[in-house]
Amino acid sequence: MTGHMAQDRAPLLASPPRAATHDLLTWALTAHPDALMPSAFNLNGVVLIDLAVRAGYHGEVVFVDTGYHFPETLQTRDRLAARYPGLTFVTLNAGATPEDGQTPPDLYARDPDACCAARKVAPLQRYLREKNPSALLNARSRDQATTRADIPVVEHGARIKINPLASWTRPQLEAYAREHSLPVNPLYADGFLSVGCWTCTRAVRPGEDVRAGRWAGQGKTECGLWAGAGKL
Ligand code: SF4
Repeated sequence: MTGHMAQDRAPLLASPPRAATHDLLTWALTAHPDALMPSAFNLNGVVLIDLAVRAGYHGEVVFVDTGYHFPETLQTRDRLAARYPGLTFVTLNAGATPEDGQTPPDLYARDPDACCAARKVAPLQRYLREKNPSALLNARSRDQATTRADIPVVEHGARIKINPLASWTRPQLEAYAREHSLPVNPLYADGFLSVGCWTCTRAVRPGEDVRAGRWAGQGKTECGLWAGAGKL
């Protein structure tokens, strides 16, 4: 019975919307050759990098170092940079700007919205104002959280956001990562299904949303990059 069930599921896992995703990325890179990809190198992000490279992406992958990242996340970034030499990995160091010097180090505990706004959203917004890309490639998927259930593939707003993984499920992402031996953040195997700053991330418990470990117990689900008044 188990074998049959596994066989029944196999086509689903073996044929996620890869062809459609490739076509979408090919279109996106043609229509928006100046597109940028912000990334925190979670499972979704790593899969998107690989798919984008296969579709011809050779632009920037922009990471905001808030000063609170796990060493494993920084190592994942470095492994990706070694694996994809055709991409330019940009790290915006939020701890190195004069503005950040005015951010109290314990702000994340007192006012996480203000901390994310200063350490994450502002540095990326500054960078995007400089570069002014016509579109962003983003790796969110609908099954990551109920708050992401309606993500469109192409999102209009302050900037066009292209979300090629919107319809991908976690099993499909995991299968893709395994198949291509992608350098997934090792914390993922320990239950950190969405990894942010160490100060604000815990492992996810069985049955919880992928992002339930982010700002757990603080009534906060998004950092502000993709939702809210200051979103990209
Ligand atoms: S995730 Fe936490 S530490 Fe990181 S920027 Fe947001 S509030 Fe600050």
